[in-house]
Amino acid sequence: MDLMQMDKTYVANTYARFPVELVSGKGSKVYDNNGKEYIDMGSGIAVTSFGIADDAWRQAVIDQTGKLQHMSNLYYTAPCAELAKLLCEKTGMRKVFFGNSGAEANECAIKVARKYAAEHKGNDCFTVVTLKNSFHGRTLTTLAATGQEHYHELFQPLTPGFAHVTAGDMDELKALCASVKVAAVMVECVQGEGGVIPLSADYAKDLNAFVKENDLLLIVDEVQTGNGRSGQLYAYMALGLEPDIVSTAKGLAGGLPLGACLLGEKVENVLGFGDHGSTFGGNPVCCAAALSILSRIDDALLASVREKSAFLFDAFTGAAGIESVSGLGLMIGLKTVRPAGDVVRECMARGVLCLTAKDKVRLLPALNIPMEDLAKAVEIIKSVCAG
Ligand SMILES: *Cc1c(COP(=O)(O)O)cnc(C)c1O
Repeated sequence: MDLMQMDKTYVANTYARFPVELVSGKGSKVYDNNGKEYIDMGSGIAVTSFGIADDAWRQAVIDQTGKLQHMSNLYYTAPCAELAKLLCEKTGMRKVFFGNSGAEANECAIKVARKYAAEHKGNDCFTVVTLKNSFHGRTLTTLAATGQEHYHELFQPLTPGFAHVTAGDMDELKALCASVKVAAVMVECVQGEGGVIPLSADYAKDLNAFVKENDLLLIVDEVQTGNGRSGQLYAYMALGLEPDIVSTAKGLAGGLPLGACLLGEKVENVLGFGDHGSTFGGNPVCCAAALSILSRIDDALLASVREKSAFLFDAFTGAAGIESVSGLGLMIGLKTVRPAGDVVRECMARGVLCLTAKDKVRLLPALNIPMEDLAKAVEIIKSVCAG
């Protein structure tokens, strides 16, 4: 049985995979089982922040696996504490809960918001408002948070206590808050799965003021936008949002599973012993990997992310077959004349791995992608879009 047949037979049918087997890589290059080379413009959906098999990241992982690959959260381990300290120092947040994924980071954020609201505003205050077209994860609760009906249909009943409002429409949010007791508002700074759509700066400013005036918690989902992807350490920093809770995951550990829920001053002590937990959360290997990544996301790297972003906006804006360019940092959406799926398939045939998001072509290259690889990928993408 060949590999694709084996996978189709034994792996649950949840992914429409491309007919290609990837076996290795280095930096922003990946290779399939025939030795064909691809430029990676997807980073495993914003995960491999410093590319494939990055040397410093690998050394950190190898060193930690030689010491302690896992220990129960009943004991102290250094990588977990050091990573939490670094995250707090870099953001001004106060405490961190570690899980294994974006959905889990959001589950924690929602639990914290529920408990805070129950304690400060009463048991009938629990609604978390999110935006239409958002994406917050695949668990039943984060699906309920996700503002896209088509994800909900087959899985009723979902966790109650969520409402969805239109991004950019403050009046709709105000009307909702006047009729329902709201605990928190949760937003993505750039809707990733929703089509790489940034929140407008005006809306972010009004939202920030509104949640403050009304003593609502602000949760920012930085699962995709976080950890340097936006050209800031976290995208909320560019928008001037002042979140009480920040969830992140994807790029945090550069390719190992790690989610983090960052808790600000207001909510730092909401969780007590036994309120939440995760067997693998704060795993020493994942945290050592994240320390290697996070400690290198400095001002120089962020400046280079913004430069590469400007290069991409410049290259694609007005190009043949490209109707519009959206996004922030190295999170780019292209509205193409040709169907996005066709563009991605042809780019792959020509040696460039791209993603889609709704009807857009989505690009999420490694933060340190060499300019040479980036320029070459751009030429191929432009030529496919024009064709
Ligand atoms: C990917 C994503 C999630 C879900 O993360 P998982 O690690 O797949 O659970 C949640 N929110 C946003 C914004 C995402 O992009």
